[in-house]
Amino acid sequence: MNIPENLSSIPMSELTEIIRYHNRLYWEKGTPEISDSDYDLLLEELRRRAPEHPLVTAIHTPTVVSGGKVRHRTPMLSLDKAYSLEAIMTWGKKFARTPDEILLIQPKYDGISANFDGHTLATRGDGETGEDVSEKLPLIELETIGYTGKLDRPARGEIVIREDDFKNLYSNIRRKDGGFYKNPRNAVAGIMGLKEIDLMIAQKAKLTLVDYSLISYSCPLDHLPEKWETFLDELSRLPYPMDGAVIKFADIRFRESLGNTAHHPRGEIAYKYSNVRRETLLLDVEWSFGKNNLTPVAIMEPVEFAGVTVKRASLHNVQNIIDMDLHIGDHITVERAGDVIPYIVASTPGTERRSPLINTCPACDAVLERKGPELVCTNAACPGTNLQRLSAAVKSLDVENLGESTLKKLITVCNIRHLSDLFKLKAADLLQIEGFAEKSAANLLTELQRVRTLPEYQFLAALNIPNVGPNIAKILLQTMDFNSLRQASFDTFNNIPGIGPERAKAITGAFAERKEEIDELLDALTLIREEKSTSANAVTVCFTGKMPEKRSYYVNLAESRGHIAVDSVTKDLALLVAADLNENSSKLAKARKLGIKIISLDEFLNSAKTPEPVNTTGEQLELFTVEETVKSSASDAPRHTAAEEEQPELF
Ligand SMILES: [Zn+2]
Repeated sequence: MNIPENLSSIPMSELTEIIRYHNRLYWEKGTPEISDSDYDLLLEELRRRAPEHPLVTAIHTPTVVSGGKVRHRTPMLSLDKAYSLEAIMTWGKKFARTPDEILLIQPKYDGISANFDGHTLATRGDGETGEDVSEKLPLIELETIGYTGKLDRPARGEIVIREDDFKNLYSNIRRKDGGFYKNPRNAVAGIMGLKEIDLMIAQKAKLTLVDYSLISYSCPLDHLPEKWETFLDELSRLPYPMDGAVIKFADIRFRESLGNTAHHPRGEIAYKYSNVRRETLLLDVEWSFGKNNLTPVAIMEPVEFAGVTVKRASLHNVQNIIDMDLHIGDHITVERAGDVIPYIVASTPGTERRSPLINTCPACDAVLERKGPELVCTNAACPGTNLQRLSAAVKSLDVENLGESTLKKLITVCNIRHLSDLFKLKAADLLQIEGFAEKSAANLLTELQRVRTLPEYQFLAALNIPNVGPNIAKILLQTMDFNSLRQASFDTFNNIPGIGPERAKAITGAFAERKEEIDELLDALTLIREEKSTSANAVTVCFTGKMPEKRSYYVNLAESRGHIAVDSVTKDLALLVAADLNENSSKLAKARKLGIKIISLDEFLNSAKTPEPVNTTGEQLELFTVEETVKSSASDAPRHTAAEEEQPELF
């Protein structure tokens, strides 16, 4: 069933029937027939006609298979919604104490809200009472400040499937009926609705509970308008399914002092992406290489979205083209939501059609193979895939002035296969390449010489082991040096907090299979062992008083900033953070006597850095802190093809 052409003219009874039908497909069966935005159009139409209709006001929680009802200790209220920056500013100005009141901006994850109290995992339900879904715990990994791993500590957040997990893991995971899941949101709903999860465990399915506090940007209210676009752009690079952003006042006590309306807290608001659609023509399909597969990109007749001319759209993977029966020459509907890269939501056949599918690799002519929904080149030495791997390694090593176009020439002219080959290059080799002269050749060789000495973690990250970027590499190397890591067993890795069996397997596998390559690299490079962060410049911090969040939250936050959290006030303490500066606690009294620096909780939260999210390529995102000017991290890689590698570990 498609959505009717002229929505406003269909009878009310039919409209509600259609919505109910799609609700059942989506939430109960996990087999949606229409896109999320089409569904939103239906709901929007109903909201226009009957704002109080139960289908409009219903909180969309999937039918989860539940172990019973759980009452939340603090209610999980839904948020008031804004669809524009203007609406956010109106809300902000209404409540803020000063024009530069600090806001926190967080992703609005698109999954299932849940609370884990340390024993029971419960969905949000109606906000007061949720469903006990603890039997799904074996599938769920927690991502919170300073920790990624087993869900073994209290957390409130959203159960989602990371986009990189969806791409890498779920291409091999089948539903009970044998089909593949269509998108991360649909897969979460489907899996949470299963009566038994043995099949999912056997297929190594993984869900993630993202703690709401994991990723926060901060920005003064009066600077929000100028930073808004960049902020949305940064958000869209995070590896989670999202449908907007949450904006709240940073000062927790102030925020809570504003209280709640009947439905919503006043101190925060949700910004929902509005979806803009354009009709155009599909002119061609280009196949772009990733480190492991080929991704189709639509080339279309240019269309304009809010002043931006767009010629390319993501097609995700080859299965998507087949499912849509998409041909070059078709009329297409393109949507741009919060995403930077628009995508195609619908198509109608054109008069002259040509299939965009290919059977042989555009880079090496080898036969292409289907791997789940992806297309892969069968040639292990494929220059297309090789270029992407080399390019990622070169970026990890911070080699300057060695872009993709030069790497491409190095591969074809100088026969470069592995990273280690780069370090064998001589001036004579480079001079064979068109565009290289004595000086530029010497410059590149000097640059390659410079990067030969590097920290161990950077080297480990440059190996392109799936899910091991710089942050994970740092965690691994905190426990032992690189050479010991090479000898370590699966169990050793698996036992390191935040690593997990999947990575443990990938790491041990890579060390075994790529022994020669790694040996060769180690001959060429000098690794520096970095001292642990508990070095002289780490600051000891102690907390006192009743804080809005659990103490562990602040301890983790402090540690994520490189501080050491301690329990008592001694003369060596650097900083005491007090929930209430006027309180008469013994810690405060002692700190005053010893002349130790005392700051308020707000100062602590707003000072220094907020937790640093990492983007999908493992690079640090620029943060919207009060002092910093905003830079946008330059990446033109389509978000769905840049599905890379790393958890936002916050160290
Ligand atoms: Zn190839």
